[in-house]
Amino acid sequence: MKITRIESRIQRSSFTYGAGSSGVGGNLHLRGMDTLVVRVETEDGLHGWGEGFGFNLVDTTKDALDRLIAPAAIGQDATRPAALSLMLQRRFHNFGRSGPVTFAISAIDIALWDLAGKRAGKPLHALLGSAARERVEAYASLLRYGVPEDVARNTREAVARGYARIKLHEVDLACIRAARAAAPPEVPLMLDINCAWGSEAEAMDFCRAVEGMNIAWVEEPIWPPEDLTGIATVRNAARCPIAGGENIGSPEEFGRFFAAGALDVAQPSVTKIGGLTAMRQVAELARLAGVELVPHCPYFGPGLLASLHFLAAAEEAQPIEIYYADLQAAPYGKALDPVAGHIAVPTGPGLGLDPAW
Ligand SMILES: [Mg+2]
Repeated sequence: MKITRIESRIQRSSFTYGAGSSGVGGNLHLRGMDTLVVRVETEDGLHGWGEGFGFNLVDTTKDALDRLIAPAAIGQDATRPAALSLMLQRRFHNFGRSGPVTFAISAIDIALWDLAGKRAGKPLHALLGSAARERVEAYASLLRYGVPEDVARNTREAVARGYARIKLHEVDLACIRAARAAAPPEVPLMLDINCAWGSEAEAMDFCRAVEGMNIAWVEEPIWPPEDLTGIATVRNAARCPIAGGENIGSPEEFGRFFAAGALDVAQPSVTKIGGLTAMRQVAELARLAGVELVPHCPYFGPGLLASLHFLAAAEEAQPIEIYYADLQAAPYGKALDPVAGHIAVPTGPGLGLDPAW
């Protein structure tokens, strides 16, 4: 079944995230919740949807898809996503093993899995595993506010919206303490550092400072994100689990992180690492290494939906990341909005929903 046509469109959306007038807007560099939605059509007229990592990079991802990846994928067999992904990786590896080229390959791969579900007449999760969850718990992934009052207010609001786990992107201890005081003690906090700490010692001091605050994990504690030895050192010294993986470019690199004992929680990103094919490879490596897998998915299009199906199928129940932002134009409207802290898994064939196009 040959791929006959690939189209891509940038979906731009402004957003609000509860930053007050006092907020320094730690995320002001983020212009919009923009993403690349990709439509892949096969010779029988069926089509599947994919998503490549976007935000401020969305134009570059589109360029990689339109100029390199789509022309090479047209005419190829749509029913063998792993083979196509490997061919594309090998052909374009000299342009980098992570980044826009890999984000574009990810979009094609997700679309082929959507097509596989549609062709089988089954929801995508049925092709990925047997758990068949009807809904998946969501965790609120708050953007950075940088002001304790704003962090506290949004934490309270997220709990009121039904979230039972909250992730912060704060690095300031006063902001983290404000969230801890605002959330019920049984609500775990995840702390995403985004590689802010410049040394292992700095990261270990931080981990000690948040001890006893019901911290589920500390994410990407040090710079650079690929310093697996440094991260392993922090993990061995810290009394809290360490998460990471959104900036790991391949399943092979995840394997090296697992071998180094650097991670308690692996966070592959389906729109970055190579789609569901790569996600499944990471899942198998994580299972063998005894590492939990909680996908990175702070986006709103087919990548979020693919992550939802992945978690609906996974043997071990894990929550899905939901970016705590209200979009002016979400790709699926309100269909994926959490209800009582959970997201319903679509039951139609493939991904089960069509994004705005
Ligand atoms: Mg992160």
